[in-house]
Amino acid sequence: LFVTFEGGDGAGKSTQAALLETWLTEAGRTVVRTREPGGTELGDELREIVLHRRGHIAPRAEALIYAADRAHHVATLVRPALARGEVVIQDRYLDSSVAYQGAGREIDGGEIRNVSLWATEGLLPDLTVLLDLDPAIGRTRLDAARTRYDRLEAEAAEFHGRVRDAYLALAAAEPERFLVLDATLPVEELAAAIRARVAELVG
Ligand code: C5P
Repeated sequence: LFVTFEGGDGAGKSTQAALLETWLTEAGRTVVRTREPGGTELGDELREIVLHRRGHIAPRAEALIYAADRAHHVATLVRPALARGEVVIQDRYLDSSVAYQGAGREIDGGEIRNVSLWATEGLLPDLTVLLDLDPAIGRTRLDAARTRYDRLEAEAAEFHGRVRDAYLALAAAEPERFLVLDATLPVEELAAAIRARVAELVG
């Protein structure tokens, strides 16, 4: 089972991914929780490059770095875990690229998706949880946590507005794959909704 978490910065993806991991592990499942960019040694190096140089990389180059990270991550970590019958819970996947490198950087979303599908040999998640949040609220949350303050500063509000709209369009286009949740709901309520959907999938 391959579950991905998507949403804008500050939406609570990591929190929910960790809660889902705990629940599945307690139920006796073997879980690999990972994230991108990153998740492998090469991925961590690529993460440094894209985040450090963010805003100073030609958009298509940035898209290819994310695709390279994804290709390596899927080939060396995600596919082997899925082949062993494990659950993979991943913070961000190809929908992030369609939203950020596509809508955010104004590159055709279909092209970005195709590059990603080439990179991953067509691997799509069984379930994608979209934590939908007004980017202004995400920004306030990150400010309050005093973490990653620079991230939303680095890009204009319009950029994050396009990212959010793209995510919602992706979810509308593939309703069977997506579970869209209002990220302002209480953490426990979100976790329960996610568990209910995952329970249907794992049986
Ligand atoms: O998931 P996380 O918040 O750690 O992602 C790091 C940063 O990289 C975020 O600020 C996110 O906006 C950005 N990102 C991106 N394109 C992606 C994935 C993440 O711009 N495909």
